Amino acid sequence: MRPISYRRATDAQSAVQALASAAETNNPLTDASIQPLAGGTTLLDLMKLDVMRPAVIVDINPLTKSWSAINLDGRKLKLGSLARMSDVAANPDIQRHYPVIADSLKLAASPQLRNMASLGGNVLQRTRCTYFRDVSYEQCNKRSPGSGCAAMDGFNRAHAVLGASDQCIATYPGDFAQALIALDATVEITGKSGVRNISFADLHKAPGSSPQIETALMPGELISAFSIEGRWPRSTYLKVRDRQSYEFALSSVAIALDLQDGTVRDARVALGGVATIPWRAREAEALLKGQKLDDAVASEVAEAAFEGAIGRKHNEFKIALGKRVVSRALHQAAAMEI
Ligand SMILES: Cc1cc2nc3c(=O)[nH]c(=O)nc-3n(C[C@H](O)[C@H](O)[C@H](O)COP(=O)(O)OP(=O)(O)OC[C@H]3O[C@@H](n4cnc5c(N)ncnc54)[C@H](O)[C@@H]3O)c2cc1C
Ligand code: SF4
Repeated sequence: MRPISYRRATDAQSAVQALASAAETNNPLTDASIQPLAGGTTLLDLMKLDVMRPAVIVDINPLTKSWSAINLDGRKLKLGSLARMSDVAANPDIQRHYPVIADSLKLAASPQLRNMASLGGNVLQRTRCTYFRDVSYEQCNKRSPGSGCAAMDGFNRAHAVLGASDQCIATYPGDFAQALIALDATVEITGKSGVRNISFADLHKAPGSSPQIETALMPGELISAFSIEGRWPRSTYLKVRDRQSYEFALSSVAIALDLQDGTVRDARVALGGVATIPWRAREAEALLKGQKLDDAVASEVAEAAFEGAIGRKHNEFKIALGKRVVSRALHQAAAMEI
């Protein structure tokens, strides 16, 4: 049995102080030994599997009152990081002005999990790679840097075709993150020295040679909110999976379109289930601008979205599947009545 120190924050300041003081006595960069606790649906799951072994847990749920607001002020949306997935998905403003956000949350996990899970915890969930989640496998560079990668020559059906490295091919599993990256969201981060903002696109790190480093968060920092400028009523999230409910994506896409008289003025395309991080397909977006959407344009965009994709023994099918998902979602978004 390993001892765990549990601390309950009373407000933002006490949370960052507890995290900072724990960081002084532990080594957060190497063993993730300090963890904030939100809904716990990832953290406690991975602790039970013995994958995450924090020495200190700082419960941030007492901050829920101040960090769970859903605030649409003019054309700026701000979502508190402790807002629950189900509350955001059910919010009428979100459903009307940002359907891609509501859809991405509604199609994730199960109702019970969505009631419990927070937005901040959702974007920071860990990969579902079997070899990462099962400590009986010794080779996993993400869990045990330098040990190798059992998925490379193992069963890699669920793994990434984009953004992989020779160290790790694990898929980023979440859904909401694709909506955030598509809409150019900003992440508000609260730490001991104050608040800083980064682009959501800079939050997740591709595995490269250090797959154990997954985000740009510094030890002791908390995500306090997400914000989005502008409204995207013509937006949608399409998710394809092995079963219709309670399953992670094999391929998904977040699409947002700004159409005028059928011509695309602006477009956003982000892919899920196929890449190591939330994946923005900017070259595909560029092909859409100024075009009228038809089958030929949709398939050209889908091809561009998967440019450079590399399939492995069991996941090659994701490239063809992903292109069809992009094409279908584009037509779906274009046909929306807003
Ligand atoms: C069976 C199952 C099926 C699932 N299916 C899906 C799915 O289809 N799609 C999908 O998107 N997700 C899915 N999930 C994942 C689920 O959505 C996440 O577990 C959940 O969103 C995590 O939120 P949480 O608040 O419970 O996070 P926690 O478990 O509390 O935290 C997760 C991680 O983030 C850190 N953290 C939490 N909040 C903050 C913060 N504000 N600042 C800094 N660090 C923080 C924690 O320390 C921890 O490392 C599934 C989960 C399960 C168990
Ligand atoms: S793909 Fe990544 S997470 Fe999975 S075994 Fe390889 S190194 Fe570990």
